Amino acid sequence: MNDASGPPSELPDHSSGSANDAGIGLAPEAHLLHIVGRMAHLGAWSLSLPRRELIWGASALRIFEAPEHHAPSVEALLDFVAPVHRDRVAEALQRCIEWGDTLDEQYRALTVTGREVWVHTLAEAVRDEQGHIVRVDGVCKDITEQKLAEVALQESEARFRSLVEGVERVSVQGYDSARRVIFWNKASERLYGYTREEAIGQQLEDLIIPPEMRELVIEGTRQWLEAGVVSVPAEELVLRHKNGSPVPVYSSHTMQRSASGEAQLYCVDVDLSERVQAEALRHQLEGQLREAQKLEAMGTMVGGIAHDFNNVLGAILANVMLAREALPADHLAQSHLGLIAKGGQRARSMVQQILAFSRRQAQELRVVNLQKQVQESLALLQAGLPPQVALGLKQGDPSLCVLADPAQLQQVLMNLCTNAQQALPAGGGRVELSLERVRLRSSPHEPGPDLPDGDYALLTVADNGCGMDAKTRLRIFEPFFTTKPTGQGTGLGLSVVHGIVLAHRGAITVHSVPGAGTRFQIYLPLVDAVADPSSEWGALQAASGQEQGLHIVYVDDDEVLRLTVESLLRRVGYRVTLCSSADQALAEVMVPGAGIALLVTDYNMPGRNGLELAQMLSQLRPLLPVLLSSGYFSDEMHAQALRLGVRGLLHKERLLEELVDKVREVLQTAA
Ligand code: ADP
Repeated sequence: MNDASGPPSELPDHSSGSANDAGIGLAPEAHLLHIVGRMAHLGAWSLSLPRRELIWGASALRIFEAPEHHAPSVEALLDFVAPVHRDRVAEALQRCIEWGDTLDEQYRALTVTGREVWVHTLAEAVRDEQGHIVRVDGVCKDITEQKLAEVALQESEARFRSLVEGVERVSVQGYDSARRVIFWNKASERLYGYTREEAIGQQLEDLIIPPEMRELVIEGTRQWLEAGVVSVPAEELVLRHKNGSPVPVYSSHTMQRSASGEAQLYCVDVDLSERVQAEALRHQLEGQLREAQKLEAMGTMVGGIAHDFNNVLGAILANVMLAREALPADHLAQSHLGLIAKGGQRARSMVQQILAFSRRQAQELRVVNLQKQVQESLALLQAGLPPQVALGLKQGDPSLCVLADPAQLQQVLMNLCTNAQQALPAGGGRVELSLERVRLRSSPHEPGPDLPDGDYALLTVADNGCGMDAKTRLRIFEPFFTTKPTGQGTGLGLSVVHGIVLAHRGAITVHSVPGAGTRFQIYLPLVDAVADPSSEWGALQAASGQEQGLHIVYVDDDEVLRLTVESLLRRVGYRVTLCSSADQALAEVMVPGAGIALLVTDYNMPGRNGLELAQMLSQLRPLLPVLLSSGYFSDEMHAQALRLGVRGLLHKERLLEELVDKVREVLQTAA
């Protein structure tokens, strides 16, 4: 209860000056208050109004770090208040003085030493018996520590909030005890598609919970909220986006209490969609890799089989040819043999296609006269064409020579012409080839084939068939791409053509108009013409008289090949000794007076292989020329053969076609 009898007893009587720190000279009641003030960091002051006289207690002086006996004026009292709060405090004091309102203010203040402190002041007006306000008594408390802690807490809360708000890819949602959304951060907007405005106030189960989880979630969260604890560990869940799509998340939950003690559930969901997508992609790639490995293994296997088939077919064809020669032209069996030869050739071209595709066919580059090559291929093709199809070389150039593998060139022509013919309508049509010389100069205005500048042979194969649309045209060089019915198209033809042309440092382009026809153009780099090499089957002409009767040893463990080679060589006048192993050949060679002019050996044989045989011969018979044949030549085999002085390498696939030529070549240089 205030009364107007005098200032509060902790304060010194105005007449006796301010209290000292120890409280010496105070009445017992005033002394107790003095102790309370010190303990609670409370300071007291009293403003006597008529005189506007201000009295400070010792604790108040301590709060403001003022020296003992400091006695500021009323105006100076307000100077302690920091400028930002000064007007507010001055107004409150004025209301207290004039109207008797209680002053209850917290403000920042500056101590005498200039330090900033927070002060809470509570002051009340004291009236005299007539009700006039005669004094204001106040208590002030240093609340700096409390204020700083509050500010720190606010800052930390703000920081935490902005962290949770802004964190990317981690959705944080808060739900009240009725599972209504009370918090929804940015990541939640992105992850689930609902804006904060849309989400706040909605039920958890209506927003992101898929229908099948609804009951479970309602029951589970109800139990957690009742118990105040979450009873499941973090787990991977598939929740639901606003658009209904699944959202894979790693979800953890925690309970909080609001200021009023209400349980709140917070969910923290980490977006797993990238991981899930990456896993799906990995799965897909693994599948593709497995497919690719399977295809590669199949390719190797098919290549191996095709290789053996090719050799078998070579032997059949050579023997058919020998048989036809041995029989009179009008013999009944001639037409049957002719059919066998035709079938065999078709089979062989198919097998060679597979070989080229599985890259097992060796590329043997030599100078090839293109016109001759085209004419040879056309002759082969024309034989099997129906009469309503016109196939021919419209324009030629006999001077064009390219560095090429003749067998592969033939394959290119066969594939292109077969496709062209198949594109013709049932009533027939035209397939025209032309050969010309072109000079390529890169020009930004004229898009041409992607080739270095230079002189090229341009081979065109044009038909007036069905043509192709743009979609088909884009894919024709892909392996296994075909528009033909199963059994008619393999989709390998053009990919083989493409591979061969590129391997010859050339380029292929295609122009096609649906319904009007197609034109393939092949560019091959030109080389200077040299002596025209004889064509492959042309090698089966009689050898020149000089080498007639020379003795040749042929070594191979394959009996069919041995016998076929014997016939081919005998046919052109050589004497032949056949051996089935290296050891047998060595024995043969060492027979005194055997007079052997050349030894041809296969590489792959049981016991000593062809190179080992060549090595022994290089010591025992260093002057005897040796030819080596093999289905495959590694770089190492090449190098070793060179070291041992082997005179030539024969690819087994074309052994029968090339043998006679090669034998003659070696014998001529040896002679
Ligand atoms: P395949 O002939 O076994 O289908 P290719 O690789 O040789 O395989 O050809 C692929 C596809 O290209 C063919 O199925 C066909 O649709 C198209 N094509 C090739 N040449 C021609 C052409 N001259 N005229 C029209 N379409 C062609």
